[in-house]
Amino acid sequence: MTTYSLVCDSCGRNFDAARPDAVTCGPTCRQRRYREGLAANVVKAATELLHRQTRTVIAFTSTDDDLERARLRRELDAIAAEAADRWPAAA
Ligand SMILES: [Zn+2]
Repeated sequence: MTTYSLVCDSCGRNFDAARPDAVTCGPTCRQRRYREGLAANVVKAATELLHRQTRTVIAFTSTDDDLERARLRRELDAIAAEAADRWPAAA
């Protein structure tokens, strides 16, 4: 049987695989890689929301237009509501 000498994407160790497209050396590393992927997605979503909030605050403090400020205040409320919806424990 052909085996492929690969490097585990999770722990970095060399391992022999039956398939050339194997990514991890075993179930423990596969599970860790999956969890790390989920955590990375949470960080990415939180970072995007924080950037949106920062841009909105900057726009709010940069305008004297009352209508625009009211719109931006609603946007900030929507951002806060989205954060509370996604991460209730942090609200
Ligand atoms: Zn591994």
